[in-house]
Amino acid sequence: MRRAIGILAVILLFASPARGQQQDGLKVFISVDMEGISGVVNTDDASRSGQDYGYFRAVMTREANAAIEGALAAGATEILVRDSHGSARNLLPELLNRNARLLRDWSGGHLSMMEGIDESFDAVIFVGYHAKAGTDNAILDHTSSGNVTNVEINGISMPEAGYNALMAGYYDVPVVFVAGDQALCDQVVERFGEVETVAVKEGIGAASLGLHPEVAREKIRAGVEHALRNLDNYQPYKLSAPYTLVLTMKSESVIHNGALYPGAKRTGDWELTFTADDVMEIMRAYQWMRK
Ligand SMILES: [Zn+2]
Repeated sequence: MRRAIGILAVILLFASPARGQQQDGLKVFISVDMEGISGVVNTDDASRSGQDYGYFRAVMTREANAAIEGALAAGATEILVRDSHGSARNLLPELLNRNARLLRDWSGGHLSMMEGIDESFDAVIFVGYHAKAGTDNAILDHTSSGNVTNVEINGISMPEAGYNALMAGYYDVPVVFVAGDQALCDQVVERFGEVETVAVKEGIGAASLGLHPEVAREKIRAGVEHALRNLDNYQPYKLSAPYTLVLTMKSESVIHNGALYPGAKRTGDWELTFTADDVMEIMRAYQWMRK
């Protein structure tokens, strides 16, 4: 009997997806983009005008729900979901888990995909994220609106996940979990060090080899729960001041407009540079200079 209990305990230990402590009262911020959602492979899939957009926004909402369920299982009591793609009006409010609040549309502020973040949160999660512009074997890789081909901060080329994590880091909040394609997962591990990732698909060139959406959701749910039960493993992402932002652009009108931002300088044929002591000043400048 004792042996049977021992075996049962071992089975339970290994069957459990998350082994750390449940932490009651966690406040979790979830930013959801669309290019890194299961099955999405073409801009049509993630554009209002695309025939399959309605289907993929439901997949996107269910993938956000998987993260919410993982957070609830780990003890989250407050969850903010930030719709971070295109119009910022993609997630289906009725289909979203009722325990989360949803932030829709752009506010015009510099926090953008991180709008709503502040020091009261315990952890940040990214779902449906994609690799930076110009990444090999990445699905719908780009950085920001498409006017920018590279965003570099202190010499580090950043995917959107990178500078969004810096904004969370400003408030001392770590990014603990990221879901998207394999190329994105590799980029965040390289930059953040310790971070839980789930690759729901991998790029074969620009094509996508992906998990079934249900399998992806199971992995996201388990990964988020595991990360939040082991919060001590993760550090807020920070770089040292002063901060130097270097943007590589691809349009003369955009680079000309960006150079008008106070303190911004054209430092190359397609390059703008801006330096500040405060990381949020960098992000404010970025919002203007990239347009
Ligand atoms: Zn997007």
